[in-house]
Amino acid sequence: METLTKERNKKSKKIPVRGMMDNVMEQFESAANHIKLHPNIKKILSITNNEIIVNFPVKMDNGEVEIFTGYRVQHNNALGPYKGGLRYHPTVDIDAARALAMWMTWKTSLAGLPYGGGKGGIKLDPSKYSQGELERITRRFTFALADNIGPEHDIPAPDVNTNSQTMAWMADTYMSTRPPAERTANQHVVTGKPAGSGGLEGRDRATGYGVYLSIKFWAEKNNESLIDKRFIVQGFGNVGYWAAHFLEKDGAKMVAVQDAFGSIRKAEGINVENLLSYSKTNKDSVVGYPEAFDLDNEKFFATECDICIPAALGNQITKDNAPVIKATLIAEGANGPTNVEGEKILLEKGITIIPDILCNSGGVVGSYFEWLQNRNGELWQLDEVMAKLHKKLKESFEKVYEYAKCESIDMRTAAYCIAIERIEKAYVQRGIFP
Ligand code: GLU
Repeated sequence: METLTKERNKKSKKIPVRGMMDNVMEQFESAANHIKLHPNIKKILSITNNEIIVNFPVKMDNGEVEIFTGYRVQHNNALGPYKGGLRYHPTVDIDAARALAMWMTWKTSLAGLPYGGGKGGIKLDPSKYSQGELERITRRFTFALADNIGPEHDIPAPDVNTNSQTMAWMADTYMSTRPPAERTANQHVVTGKPAGSGGLEGRDRATGYGVYLSIKFWAEKNNESLIDKRFIVQGFGNVGYWAAHFLEKDGAKMVAVQDAFGSIRKAEGINVENLLSYSKTNKDSVVGYPEAFDLDNEKFFATECDICIPAALGNQITKDNAPVIKATLIAEGANGPTNVEGEKILLEKGITIIPDILCNSGGVVGSYFEWLQNRNGELWQLDEVMAKLHKKLKESFEKVYEYAKCESIDMRTAAYCIAIERIEKAYVQRGIFP
């Protein structure tokens, strides 16, 4: 019953520009202009290589069958296999998957990894399904994707509302459907697996740690300390929590948090670990935390603070709320949280933005370590992983910071320029087949 549509290299098919695609294309355009990107390379990078849409049936707990739609967009693989997460969210559609896949291409290139960019997911609200249903949905989605993913071809990872459990089910399904001799050799088909099943120690905190490090590197460049710096965080999931955890350890104060259910605030600071314990007993929500006050969602971005960390979904900072933002630094834990109009306002106000493709790249760098570990049959220790992450993220930060300074451009444009130049070089060296 699977319907599988695969469009390979349909260069004539124009990507419709709307929503998140608007942002990623405008960001790409300004960097391409800045580096005077060759028009042929620009054509190639403006379009996705492959777009896979699968409709698949899953038996629900009540015995009925529901049909789900899953996506995997493979934007570019000039530097290596497609790499990027799968998200489970009602906003997942082909436009979102295209934009997110493009962001992955820039992210992996900027990080100097041997990967291209891909992204996908399923349009659903996971809170409406039982664990058993989510397992069957994940397994059937993996089966439907079939050979469109693979450890040397396209390597998914967790993203919004997916986690190490989702990846364990994917890896198991993929391996179970290989010929016997190939089964165990394929566990690096996905990254972000549980540590006991080929996962990397520390992969859970890698993205949040990278967000924290970006903020720390920025503070060091500006001779500032993190002690008593006030931060607000949108999204208290894997990225938001871990970023907050490391910032608090360095003496910074979390003064407001927003999640999908509401917002809370406390000027004196909200204890990160206590909030996590509370949210675990409160259906993963921070709302109603007794040690803080309720805050109107519309007032969240206007909270008095020094650092703002959007770590949830895209298009959160726009022309409507950018004018009220008090922070002097935005650290983008999410993908595409600031849209182009919002960014213009922030930059005019002199606010620095550490762009997503740099700020949240700790996740995919961690994924790369996991992939290497699996490929080489190794097991790395946590301290080793954290030290390697630090080194890699420091190199990326320095490159972007210096490029932006030398060229007198913002950090996002600088990050894009570095990423695109690396891909351009690969195309120039190899030429275009045939
Ligand atoms: N979903 C994460 C991201 O957006 C991680 C991707 C990966 O590890 O492949 O960067």
